[in-house]
Amino acid sequence: MPHPEVAETVADLRAKVRAWRREGLSVAMVPTMGALHDGHVSLMKIALEKAERCVVSIFVNPTQFAPTEDLDKYPRQLASDLDRLAEAGVHLAFTPSASEMYPQDFAAKVSIGGPSAGLETDFRPQFFDGVATVVTKLFLQTAPDCAVFGEKDYQQLCVVRQLCRDLDIPVDIIGAPTVRDAHGLAMSSRNAYLDEAGLAVARKLNRILRDAATAIARHGDADSETVKARRALQQIGFDGVDYVAARESQTLREWQAGRSGRLLAAVWLGKTRLIDNVEIPA
Ligand code: AMP
Repeated sequence: MPHPEVAETVADLRAKVRAWRREGLSVAMVPTMGALHDGHVSLMKIALEKAERCVVSIFVNPTQFAPTEDLDKYPRQLASDLDRLAEAGVHLAFTPSASEMYPQDFAAKVSIGGPSAGLETDFRPQFFDGVATVVTKLFLQTAPDCAVFGEKDYQQLCVVRQLCRDLDIPVDIIGAPTVRDAHGLAMSSRNAYLDEAGLAVARKLNRILRDAATAIARHGDADSETVKARRALQQIGFDGVDYVAARESQTLREWQAGRSGRLLAAVWLGKTRLIDNVEIPA
C-alpha cells in the first residue's frame, strides 16, 4: 500500500493544504505523537467521515514533557506509523522536526486556565502549556475545519475545546470514545513499556473506575468512593496513584450529585504512568 504524502516543513504542509482548498475540499486533522495504535486509527476514521482530506501530525512534543519524563524513551516508529496511515486512507502526514516547530529563540507560550486546573497539572505542571502551545501552532499551520481528539486524554480534550473557544480558533473539536483492548485497558503508546505482569495489573484499572463511577452515580458520595477506588488500585498492585477524582464533565469543576460527570485517574506501574477515565452517569 503506498504511503501517504509526507510534509516535514510548515511551508510544505501549507502548500499541500492550499492545493486542496483550491479544489474546495474540507480538511480534518488528527494530532498525535506517533507509535500509532487502534485508538489513533479510530480518530482517523472519524476524521475521514467528517472531511474530504485528513492530515495526521506525528510529533513528540518536547514542551509537554518535564526533564524527568520519558521524552527520550518515548516510542518512535515512523515507518510502521506511515503504514498505518496508508491502511487508514489518511492523505497527508505532517512529521516536523523539533527545530521546525521550535526554531532557535522560540519564546511563545499558550496557557489556558479553566479545565487545565488540577488533575494532570498537579503532577505535570508544564503539560497543558506544552499541549496548548503545540496545538495552537498545528491549527495555525494546517487551518483544518475540524480536529479529532480522544476522550482517553479527557482533560486534554476539555483544554483544547476551551483553547479554541477562548482564542476564536475556528476549528471544530470532535471528541472520540476511548478504544480499549479485550480486557478494558485503554490503548496507549505507553502500554509498550509494560511487561506481562504489569499488563495484568493495568487491565484492572478500568474495572475499578467503572465500579466506582457506578457507586458514585448511585449514592452521590464521590469523596468516599474515590478514597475506596484509590485503596482498591493500591491493593490490586498499582505502585502509585496520582489522583482519582470525580469532576463535572464539561468544566472539570468538582462533580455535583445529579450532574453528568467524569471519573478520572492517573496511576503508576513502576516507571510507567497510565491515565484513564469513565463517565459518571447522570
Ligand atoms: P497521543 O499520540 O498519545 O498524543 O494521542 C493522540 C490522540 O489520540 C489524542 O487525541 C489521544 O486522546 C488519542 N488517543 C490515544 N489513545 C487513545 C485511545 N485508546 N482511544 C481513543 N483515542 C486515543
